[in-house]
Amino acid sequence: MTQSRYDAIVIGAGVNGLVAAHYLARAGRRVLVVEREPNANAALDVGWVPPQVVHELDLERQGLRFTQPDPWIAAPLEGGGRLELWRDLGRSVEAIRRINPADAAKWPDFCARMRKLATVLERLYVAPPPDIESRNPRELTRIAGLGLYVRRLGKQTVIDLARVLPMSIAELLDDWFENDALKGVLGAVGVWHLKQGPRSGGTAFNFLHHHVGSPIGVFRPPVSNIASVLLGLPGIEVRRGQEAMPVHGPDGHLTGVGLGPHGDTIEAQLVVTSADPRAAFEYAKPDLDPEFVRAIDNIKCRGVVAKGTLAWQGPTRFTNLCVAPSLEYLERAYDAAKYGRDSERPYVELRAEDGHIEVHVQYVPFRNGDSNAEHDRELRAAVVGVLAPHVPEIKAAESRLVLKSPDQFHLTEGHLYHGELTLDQILFMRPVPGWSRYRTPLEGLYLCGAGTHPGGGIAGAAGRNAARVILKDTKRS
Ligand SMILES: Cc1cc2nc3c(=O)[nH]c(=O)nc-3n(C[C@H](O)[C@H](O)[C@H](O)COP(=O)(O)OP(=O)(O)OC[C@H]3O[C@@H](n4cnc5c(N)ncnc54)[C@H](O)[C@@H]3O)c2cc1C
Repeated sequence: MTQSRYDAIVIGAGVNGLVAAHYLARAGRRVLVVEREPNANAALDVGWVPPQVVHELDLERQGLRFTQPDPWIAAPLEGGGRLELWRDLGRSVEAIRRINPADAAKWPDFCARMRKLATVLERLYVAPPPDIESRNPRELTRIAGLGLYVRRLGKQTVIDLARVLPMSIAELLDDWFENDALKGVLGAVGVWHLKQGPRSGGTAFNFLHHHVGSPIGVFRPPVSNIASVLLGLPGIEVRRGQEAMPVHGPDGHLTGVGLGPHGDTIEAQLVVTSADPRAAFEYAKPDLDPEFVRAIDNIKCRGVVAKGTLAWQGPTRFTNLCVAPSLEYLERAYDAAKYGRDSERPYVELRAEDGHIEVHVQYVPFRNGDSNAEHDRELRAAVVGVLAPHVPEIKAAESRLVLKSPDQFHLTEGHLYHGELTLDQILFMRPVPGWSRYRTPLEGLYLCGAGTHPGGGIAGAAGRNAARVILKDTKRS
């Protein structure tokens, strides 16, 4: 049975799918979003929302709110007490001075240098990745403009860019600081969502990626209610609880999407998918160039993060709490993952939200289905074991801790970013070299999710970039 016709169908009601859908709708397209999950995720969204998205979709007036915890992080110290880092640089300097005066003296300079590097990424992230083969004067002007922007930031920033991006986060932090607790708190972000330890090359880039959009001296991404705001905006239709797959006619042309294995077909000439790229092309592999298929199959998506929620009555003595006492601790946590095992002592971070606590646990490698109740129990025990010395109430709350490991995410290898942010999988190499500008070899099918530039942990940039490319390609006269 064939149903009514839309101009565009967006697969997936995550942040990027919704942003893409709203941009298309605002350009006059009739848009349907199809999402397989029956219920919206109630948690807040982590990641910088580019100001262009906020402004162009008028999100502030629609209720967009950012949470700004202060201190932005607290880390337990070995001999008791906590290292608390604040939005105010001076206050952080005072806190660091109590544990290491030499590190405190360097904090403002470190923060200023990292902020400058992050601004370069911010500029790169609000447009499709630079097209290095292009002879188009506009693209060449854009690339030259970026070069000029970097030059204007000064010689030190040019040197830092070339030197820092390929570094390991451990090398970068050892270069600046002495104190283990400080390096642990900062190093943890360098390995977020990577099956790599802090001594792996490129983790300094991952650290900077997660610094984009944050104020100077704050090294945790902003958290907002963007997904629920986008869901409340008028202009698009959202259908939940249905799996969608692009459908092609006998001549190979895209004709719309099919719902579920035997469901209705909904017609549209344009399909935009926010599914992870490895999953997105699964259905079309026999018809695609084997080189493209090989590149897609080789996208590294090695999920290593478990996420949890803990219902919590009453106040907490923290807003963000990070248990990663040193770079050595992080490296040892990673050692287990190298051989496919969960960390015995994982890196755990807590974020208090209204009435519950969000939990990040790393490393918990994808087990390809070999996950069971026993594994869940062991994982929960490991998390509680790590947290109990710092949050004693956690023992009594253990039964309320609901953890989801990579096998439970319904994503390729359980990777929440739809592909790791390693240096070989960013910019014009994301999702694969040659296809980084949201188009695909299948005419009418576009990508818009975290598997495309600029990747996970940035809310809505990929959706906006993709929509702008699509609107250019399908310009109405
Ligand atoms: C439980 C969870 C916790 C997370 N926690 C964090 C965090 O703490 N920090 C952080 O930085 N990032 C986190 N992320 C990742 C973050 O949400 C993503 O980086 C970001 O949301 C990217 O958004 P997206 O729209 O590109 O992809 P997604 O949010 O993954 O959205 C894609 C959507 O498409 C749907 N979909 C896929 N295929 C189909 C299909 N065939 N038919 C219909 N629907 C389909 C999926 O169900 C999904 O809702 C988390 C993700 C999840 C799922």
